[in-house]
Amino acid sequence: MSINPTHDLYCPQCGEQATVERLPAGSIHFARAACPGCERFLRWVPAPMTADRADRMALPFGKHKGEAFGALALADPDYLRWVIHKSDLKPTFKQAARVVLGIVAPQEATP
Ligand SMILES: [Zn+2]
Repeated sequence: MSINPTHDLYCPQCGEQATVERLPAGSIHFARAACPGCERFLRWVPAPMTADRADRMALPFGKHKGEAFGALALADPDYLRWVIHKSDLKPTFKQAARVVLGIVAPQEATP
């Protein structure tokens, strides 16, 4: 698997560029970055925020709990703008809101 430019990562011990291993579907994490030289674990790599993933992501709380971001972008975009600025929410949800509102471009799916 190629390394997403936003995940460029180097081993602090050898300076080698990390290799990213995609984990099986159903794993808690999406992918694992490690050093090809010393095999040191570097970090977990989050799934890319594709347009499809952002559309289907559901709100975990509040008056729109369980509703998909894609539908909310049409029905209540002001609420999603509030979500972006709500400081205690996971970055994944904020990023999904930015994507469905067109504030940032979606990421490409990795093979
Ligand atoms: Zn290393």
